Amino acid sequence: MELEEKITANLGKRIVILDTSAFIAGFDPFSINEEQYSVPAVEGEVAGNSMAWLRFKTAVESGKLKVKMPENIFLEKAKASATIVGDAFLLSETDFQVLALALQFKIQGCSPLVATDDYSIQNVAKHLGIEFASLATFGIKRFLKWMRYCPACRRKYPADYKFRICQICGTELKRKTSRKNYKQKSGNNNGEVK
Ligand SMILES: [Zn+2]
Repeated sequence: MELEEKITANLGKRIVILDTSAFIAGFDPFSINEEQYSVPAVEGEVAGNSMAWLRFKTAVESGKLKVKMPENIFLEKAKASATIVGDAFLLSETDFQVLALALQFKIQGCSPLVATDDYSIQNVAKHLGIEFASLATFGIKRFLKWMRYCPACRRKYPADYKFRICQICGTELKRKTSRKNYKQKSGNNNGEVK
């Protein structure tokens, strides 16, 4: 299909894109009717959490959820945008895949909506003109608490803290969720995502 025809066919089609936080917080793809997508890196992260993994796999096997890798050009655009916003250092490869996939659908004429509670993803989505919705929108009541912290002096900062370095010692901040059972395939089990 030519891109132009594809855009016409897709025009305004709502597509919900799910990040890791959605599955960890308990989102069930069967709870909404919209077409849903996620990315390979989310699949990798969700695999460390048995309940989330079960929901994810069941949805994929039934065709309710599709896993799609965005094209490189959109990954590059998402990264460039994050750099402008100043949040690039807080985003992981997973986050960039989520944003890039949303951008790809948008270029194809769809109306993507990123479901995430992650402030940095929301910031970059805003900059890219991509809609986002917090998980509460989907009836999720079990919130993940995001925070930033200094890996050197351990000082804690709010999730939406505007500066990238620790005000005490100048070390670059990291972020994590406070849910203890948030595990990643990489072996990191304290909820750290970057
Ligand atoms: Zn510090």
